[in-house]
Amino acid sequence: MASIGIVGAGTAGLHLGLKLLSHGVSVTLYAEQDPAKLREGRLPNTVAHHPPTRARERELGVDHWSGPSADIRYVGIHVNGPQSLSMRGRLDKTSIFVDYRLYQPRLAEDFVARGGRLEVLPVDGAALEGLSLKHDLMVVATGKNGLTSLFPRNAELSPHTRPARLLFAALLKGVQMEEPPGMNANLVPGQGEIFESQVISRHGRVPSLLVEALPDSELAVLSTQRYDADPRAFEALLLDRLRRFAPTTYARVNPAEFGILGPLDWLQGAFTPVVRRAWAPLANGRFVMAVGDTHVTNDPVAGQGANAASASAFALAARILDALATDRPFDEGFCRAAEEKMWAAVAPATHWTNALLQPPPPHVVDVLVAGSQEQRVADAFANAFMVPENILSACASPESAAAFITQNRQANRDVPPPEAWQIPEEAVTPRAVVR
Ligand SMILES: Cc1cc2nc3c(=O)[nH]c(=O)nc-3n(C[C@H](O)[C@H](O)[C@H](O)COP(=O)(O)OP(=O)(O)OC[C@H]3O[C@@H](n4cnc5c(N)ncnc54)[C@H](O)[C@@H]3O)c2cc1C
Repeated sequence: MASIGIVGAGTAGLHLGLKLLSHGVSVTLYAEQDPAKLREGRLPNTVAHHPPTRARERELGVDHWSGPSADIRYVGIHVNGPQSLSMRGRLDKTSIFVDYRLYQPRLAEDFVARGGRLEVLPVDGAALEGLSLKHDLMVVATGKNGLTSLFPRNAELSPHTRPARLLFAALLKGVQMEEPPGMNANLVPGQGEIFESQVISRHGRVPSLLVEALPDSELAVLSTQRYDADPRAFEALLLDRLRRFAPTTYARVNPAEFGILGPLDWLQGAFTPVVRRAWAPLANGRFVMAVGDTHVTNDPVAGQGANAASASAFALAARILDALATDRPFDEGFCRAAEEKMWAAVAPATHWTNALLQPPPPHVVDVLVAGSQEQRVADAFANAFMVPENILSACASPESAAAFITQNRQANRDVPPPEAWQIPEEAVTPRAVVR
């Protein structure tokens, strides 16, 4: 029986492994630590899974968390600068934020329960060579930090040579959550972006924050001043930045209760977005593939890295299944063809992310203004925002932006106006996880 080895039990490795298992392929995942240990660890990110990824999760049978009080149904976009504007769009298909400290261990359990083999083994270059002789193909899914030096940077597709944003993310307390669940993107000229959302965590649904600070901005201090050196001082600083740069979130803060949820519920950092070659030859003549962040690392500003990792895992799975069905070797030809399909699956996410890291051109500002004035344009923009192909085509040129506004103004004139945003008292209290 054919056997595939995958290094790394993150979202890319798990989605690839589960997909291959569902087609009867034997898969071994090599994880650097027991995935259950993640449950006790630091917040690794604040990841939204958008409709295309959620469809893949339903196909894999791993949609364990969705439900009316978990699914994100609204997107607020607020430009907070000299010229402010706000829109709130309703999503036809919902997104969801699940704390990866719940998500990845649970999917690893699913993988093992379905017959997958999981070995705890931190794999280095030498070990990879050895493993490549045990499996028909080895795939490296070690994220943005592990084993990446095997895969050369593609300079043409990688415009960044240093981090475009400095990051701070946290789970919070003392912020009244909007009902039904939504997320708010604050775009702050000269400062960066502040995303407020709601994450399904071990405490149920809780408010969360991602700050994407431009280097040298007033937000950047949130990525450099240590929280644990003086938690109260840090929280006062955070509150000040919310007041000045994310007023719709600040309006729902109870200062007496505000703070970071738990001692490990925050992260600070920065990384350089990069596209690497998706394959590498080993000294023993075998070839390995890269998937997920190991192949393409996007800045989190567009919330697309994990969604792209999942899309890429499915694209690679299709190529592997095809090669196995037709008895073709996992040689350089296979790698080049697979890379082409994987890049086609993830390129829109990278292009959209890189576009969002730049100030919006005037025609995109026109769409935002139209969305702030007309609910149907706001709805269409929010839905497009989640799917890179759709938002890219809407924002591609002044002509496409004008057409997007006109079409959506004219469309669905019988749609009722949006329901009012209600924030019940109990919403600030974390709820049980919805399964
Ligand atoms: C603050 C923040 C917010 C984000 N928000 C979003 C969002 O809203 N939406 C979105 O789609 N993406 C988001 N992302 C990006 C997302 O987290 C990543 O794109 C995604 O996790 C990549 O998945 P992966 O499987 O490639 O890597 P990872 O999830 O990093 O998994 C890699 C795995 O490999 C293991 N590993 C590493 N080295 C080795 C080794 N040598 N041997 C064995 N195992 C190894 C690691 O332990 C880990 O389990 C965000 C990221 C950050 C930092």
